[in-house]
Amino acid sequence: MTATGTRVLVLNSGSSSLKYQLLDMAGPQSDGGPAAGRLAVGLVERIGEETSRLVHTPLAAGGDKRETEGPIADHEAALKAVAAELSADGLGLDSPQLAAIGHRVVHGGLRFTEPTVIDDAVLKEIERLVPVAPLHNPANITGIRTARALRPDLPQVAVFDTAFHTTMPEYAARYALDVATADAHRIRRYGFHGTSHAYVSRKTAALLGKDPSEVNVIVLHLGNGASASAVAGGRCVDTSMGLTPLEGLVMGTRSGDIDPAVTFHLKRVAGMSEDEVDVLLNKKSGLIGLCGDNDMREIRRRIDEGDERAALAFDIYIHRLKKYIGAYSAVLGRVDAVAFTAGVGENAAPVREAAVAGLEEMGMAVDASLNAVRSDEPRLISPEYARVAVAVVPTDEELEIAQQTYALVSA
Ligand code: AMP
Repeated sequence: MTATGTRVLVLNSGSSSLKYQLLDMAGPQSDGGPAAGRLAVGLVERIGEETSRLVHTPLAAGGDKRETEGPIADHEAALKAVAAELSADGLGLDSPQLAAIGHRVVHGGLRFTEPTVIDDAVLKEIERLVPVAPLHNPANITGIRTARALRPDLPQVAVFDTAFHTTMPEYAARYALDVATADAHRIRRYGFHGTSHAYVSRKTAALLGKDPSEVNVIVLHLGNGASASAVAGGRCVDTSMGLTPLEGLVMGTRSGDIDPAVTFHLKRVAGMSEDEVDVLLNKKSGLIGLCGDNDMREIRRRIDEGDERAALAFDIYIHRLKKYIGAYSAVLGRVDAVAFTAGVGENAAPVREAAVAGLEEMGMAVDASLNAVRSDEPRLISPEYARVAVAVVPTDEELEIAQQTYALVSA
């Protein structure tokens, strides 16, 4: 398949939202930093409500952010509204410059290990995965259907959050569950945030002046959702999220690792329903459950004022993070770099400092003045003497999706 245009529209469809970016993949600028090659970015939120909102920023036109409020009934209407905004800037979906649309798809199961051009059979397979990703795949499917209806002639590519983790060895991916039951229900560890882990581990190798095949990296993607991965020579060998994004690190609103017996206890002793337990663990736990706030800025502010609940929440968050750094050091054997990324990882210097504190014997340390630097660029924050590089590497999932999409359609 050879594309004529050089632009890629990246769509990330949530249950009631649609995030998008239009990127131009021509020239070296397409890998030159967070803002490079970006023609327009935007978001439609509260789809299906009376108060839907579209925020569109035409970066190429150097224009100001435009906001429109009013009911947008569904994803089809949302994408049409986005198309109209893009057309107003001369960047319409009918442009011959548009080479493809890249869709973020959360769950690709074991079948999708690579970005994949979407046809009817692929769409059917993504639908088949709905039972293992009931919160995410339906919205992604709606986005794909809508975009295909608008531009049936254009290649549409699915880029899967799980794909990067499909290289995990069986002993890391399989739970110690009865095999027949696990296999019958496709219960295993899939991992998520794969696009970010792939991008950041590659960027970290580049920061060290090495090829990804030469380095072992622990990636800590710390956003509102959070996950860690162990990447050996460019391949993921373990990751902290599992069948769903609930497992692993303490997150903004998710508990992360927990004794599964807690769920029976909540049902048997606290009389909670399945759905109530689900909401408790996914929406009301983690930092928000521990201290009432899930924004690390607010938590740090409260700690500075002497708030003990916020301090305990922070300590629990850091303790879990340290356990994963330790575990993945053992899994990898040799660690060349620890990379912090996403909202918390990129911005919260105290989290980075605390996560690495006391790990000098493992060759890990953070230099206070380097850690205090604010920048959008990948950077080292470890002192020169440290055996392991500690880095801040801003993630860019949209650019990664656009690059994978463009590589596929221009091959
Ligand atoms: P993400 O999911 O990657 O967008 O990350 C969102 C989270 O990043 C927020 O909930 C905050 O906890 C955190 N965050 C964003 N900006 C900052 C900042 N300047 N300092 C500390 N934490 C931040």
